[in-house]
Amino acid sequence: MSTATAADQRVYNFSAGPAVLPVPVLEQARDEMLCLPGVGASILEISHRSAAFTAIIEAAEANIRKLLGVPDDYAVLFLQGGGRLQFWMTAANLIGELGAFKGKSADYLLTGSWGKQAMAEAKKVAPVRVAYDSSGSNYDRLPAPFCAGEPAMDLDPDAAYVHYTCNETIQGVQFPSEPDTGGVPLVCDASSDFMHKKLDVTKYGLIYACAQKNAGPAGVTIVIVNKALVADASPNLPIYCNYNTHIAEKSLNNTAPTFSIYIVKLVTEWLLREFGDLDAVYKQNQMKAKLLYDVMDAAPDFYIGHARRECRSLMNVAFRLPSDELTDAFLSGAKKRGLSDLKGHRSVGGARASIYNAMPVAGVECLRDYMLEFKNQQG
Ligand SMILES: *Cc1c(COP(=O)(O)O)cnc(C)c1O
Repeated sequence: MSTATAADQRVYNFSAGPAVLPVPVLEQARDEMLCLPGVGASILEISHRSAAFTAIIEAAEANIRKLLGVPDDYAVLFLQGGGRLQFWMTAANLIGELGAFKGKSADYLLTGSWGKQAMAEAKKVAPVRVAYDSSGSNYDRLPAPFCAGEPAMDLDPDAAYVHYTCNETIQGVQFPSEPDTGGVPLVCDASSDFMHKKLDVTKYGLIYACAQKNAGPAGVTIVIVNKALVADASPNLPIYCNYNTHIAEKSLNNTAPTFSIYIVKLVTEWLLREFGDLDAVYKQNQMKAKLLYDVMDAAPDFYIGHARRECRSLMNVAFRLPSDELTDAFLSGAKKRGLSDLKGHRSVGGARASIYNAMPVAGVECLRDYMLEFKNQQG
């Protein structure tokens, strides 16, 4: 009989999402699976209106508020429908017939595949404008001043909001800081780098993030919204799609995704316990990404980065090898070492290493060592 435990069989999982979770979180969920301490039943079996679950959702919210310094005039919501529902819901609540800023349009920064999809959904609601578009170079860059020589954003000072994707998961392009919109509210899709560093939340009107990349499992999407921004959205919006419903009812208008919220609570507890604050998380994320980018920078003709240096992501490291044969050999060799899910998205090709908060430093070191070795063998 094998003595290998389930934990021994775990690989280093570089999946873009759903993605790696911290082992202590999985262990605690396992230990509490039959019975939440003092509750007598599992998280999967209790009412979303029970005292036990109320304590869980309140703790998850308090942890997020603490980690990100969310001010009181912002609500923290736990919704369903993923990032994709937010593509439409942000627009429906702000522009369009039922929106708080009816009659206005919104500006979109297209720096990757997700931003493009967000705009396509918003367009169903009301007119939108493209304020920047790097699709011509398959989304490898950002506007000036982030990338020198690029055009600046072409912003409409009268727009209801500017939507951008702070980390484009597929192309591995990340904004190093918020774009300056001259006072127009920022609406941000932070799905793949949520809680990877501290933010000044007051710079945003609304931040949304599906949890399954950097914050928890699939099934819940976290929204941080300035309550005043959405206050005038029409009550004629579908009840689930009106932010004011969820603000008023503390995300419990309907049955909330209880298990997913429970895991977000455990992940945020882990961040607080393991790192203390998001500055420490950020430091480790910078260090992990540098391990891989240093290898790429030393062999730029072998590991060919997709994103320009000024905007490459700390979360998703996307690169190609000189040929499809080498890419295949690289990926299959990686798999043999227990380095999984490194295949790039089909629209970019090559490889992509997603190294979210929960990816251990040892996993990135293992990949770094493999990249060096593979290059020496083949290069
Ligand atoms: C994964 C992802 C999404 C889509 O999320 P779903 O929950 O699958 O709808 C949206 N935006 C970004 C940046 C993502 O990485």
